[in-house]
Amino acid sequence: MNTPAVLVQDLHKHYGDKHAVDGLDLRVEQGEIFAVLGPNGAGKTTTVEILEGYRKRDRGTVQVLGEDPQHAGRLWRSRIGIVLQSADDHAELTVSEMVRHHAAFYPGARDADEVIDAVGLADKARTRTRALSGGQRRRLDVALGIIGNPSLLFLDEPTTGFDPEARRSFWSLISSLREDGTTILLTTHYMDEAEQLADRCAVVRDGRVVALDAPSALGARAQKQATVTWHDGGPREQRTSRPTDLVAELAARYGGEVPGLEVHRPTLEDVYLELVGEVA
Ligand code: ATP
Repeated sequence: MNTPAVLVQDLHKHYGDKHAVDGLDLRVEQGEIFAVLGPNGAGKTTTVEILEGYRKRDRGTVQVLGEDPQHAGRLWRSRIGIVLQSADDHAELTVSEMVRHHAAFYPGARDADEVIDAVGLADKARTRTRALSGGQRRRLDVALGIIGNPSLLFLDEPTTGFDPEARRSFWSLISSLREDGTTILLTTHYMDEAEQLADRCAVVRDGRVVALDAPSALGARAQKQATVTWHDGGPREQRTSRPTDLVAELAARYGGEVPGLEVHRPTLEDVYLELVGEVA
């Protein structure tokens, strides 16, 4: 079996009395896109910063690309890509200068122009970074995260502030990185993003993983009852685990088209809210 890209066992991190991470386990396979979901304060950033080698753990085992991030060296760091929340440094550099400047830090850097093109900033290559919009700045952050041709890419809430079109093109960029073999660990508050991108996702609550599965299967979602609604002099609603049978029965009853027919299955967001305890 392949070595996992990330292996975390019984991770603990306290800040004073606060158990930010409290017995967290995680295994991310090579080549997958793995999403970490969870409410504000759940411990996601603390965990990711421990994986990136920026924070010390109190207890537990952590291996990232086969090494302990607390003791890993420069070669290990060059195999990791990190997309942090935007920093406003080097505002006077152009996009092209900024990407080339970062490329110089990596032994096996990708071609700067190709990377600028891949993130959709080719027409902004000569623009100073201070003149970029929020979404364009975020694309530049991604360019800086992937310029070193990382084996593992960390993306922290990558599409916050994107317009819908920019989000979709960002998603295709991330999918193309996976096709190139990059492992991606993503934190996000957007369930559609997790659904669109992630092979698997973990829901973190109070510093531990409370559910882990493919987005389509999380929280036994596929087995949950569907709600069928239609109109018959007023709204009608029936919950069922066999919606196709009910729809066939209704079609027979109405002799074809069922007025106002809709079938609702629980969304990832429904299941997520249930898991993090925000549903009555
Ligand atoms: P968000 O979705 O808001 O980014 P998160 O899941 O990333 O949240 P963390 O930032 O890991 O959560 O924080 C977990 C808990 O640890 C929170 O209660 C937070 O207040 C606390 N915490 C985080 N960093 C520190 C710190 N440096 N000192 C003290 N407490 C901290």
